Amino acid sequence: ASTIRLLGGTQVITSVFSVVKELIENALDAGASTIDIRLENYGLDKVEVRDNGIGIPTQNVPFVTKRYHTSKIESFSDIQHLKTYGFRGEALGSLCIVSTLSITTKTGEDEVSLSYAFNNQGQIISSHPSHLTQGTTVTATGLFKNIPVRRQFYNTNKKKKEEIKRIEDLLVAFSIILPKVRFTLNHDKERLFQKNGCPDIRTAMLSILGRNVLNCLVQKTVQLEDLKITIDMFLPNPASDVLITSKSDNSRCICAINRRPVHLKDMEKLIRQHYVSHKKTDNHRHPIYFLSVTLETDQIDVNVDPNKTIVLLHQKAEIKKGLISVLEELYGSISK
Ligand code: ADP
Ligand code: MG
Repeated sequence: ASTIRLLGGTQVITSVFSVVKELIENALDAGASTIDIRLENYGLDKVEVRDNGIGIPTQNVPFVTKRYHTSKIESFSDIQHLKTYGFRGEALGSLCIVSTLSITTKTGEDEVSLSYAFNNQGQIISSHPSHLTQGTTVTATGLFKNIPVRRQFYNTNKKKKEEIKRIEDLLVAFSIILPKVRFTLNHDKERLFQKNGCPDIRTAMLSILGRNVLNCLVQKTVQLEDLKITIDMFLPNPASDVLITSKSDNSRCICAINRRPVHLKDMEKLIRQHYVSHKKTDNHRHPIYFLSVTLETDQIDVNVDPNKTIVLLHQKAEIKKGLISVLEELYGSISK
């Protein structure tokens, strides 16, 4: 049975990145407006995510690490109307298997926060009062200690640094998608990322990308009214020249569907093709942009990939058409 648990648990939590992503999503689902992430030794020794969300009611704490326990959906059909980032109830249970987990939490009703330690089976082994304010802090130490191959993956400095970069890129994406939320990222003693709460997307982009980049972007919106789809875009101004990032780095090509950071290969390709064709530049470089699609929750399927970064869109063709109309208006049609 422990093998089955180990195998199951290793599918959601495959990397330091996935730990951080799952914990951020839990914090957001709890309504947090401040999320502080601390890593030690690239997250391998410790990942800690603290939020100021609603907290976990004492009677629910024993269940949060149970496989498939989720407070977010009640029936399968809820998956088709998803408003939360989480829905599988697997992250905390999996974390117990691949690390040593502790949770400190306080709701609005609680007088003090309580700190819980869990064993590998997800059972509470101790609890004691602590001093935190409302919200939840989840701490995972000794990540992948019992899965040497996975820990081995981080044996080179290059791999460790790439992992941190993925986490920073995720924070950039979330910071723009959710402008009001404050994020910090600390690694060992160093502050790697900080973004304060901003009133809107434009202000968040200004604080993250800087004035020079923002000045080179134009804001466009397409409404597909009968489909109830909105496409919001910040695209490179056709006259701008400074916006192409390197070949391998597409971290400033940010896409979101219903506020979920995702990869939209087809849309990304369309934007790049139109822009580089207009600029007559190297086809493999990436312009900086932000593309955000908002649609009815039953028009997407996020339950296709453990990381939830690949999303099935039922109305992809229509969305592409809407995007192309804006791209042609800005950059002309693609020259063959
Ligand atoms: P899921 O997010 O899919 O529901 P998780 O294993 O990530 O599954 O979390 C299990 C449950 O624990 C959640 O449904 C939620 O009730 C609770 N929980 C987890 N993290 C937090 C948090 N930061 N604040 C409040 N509740 C949380
Ligand atoms: Mg979750």
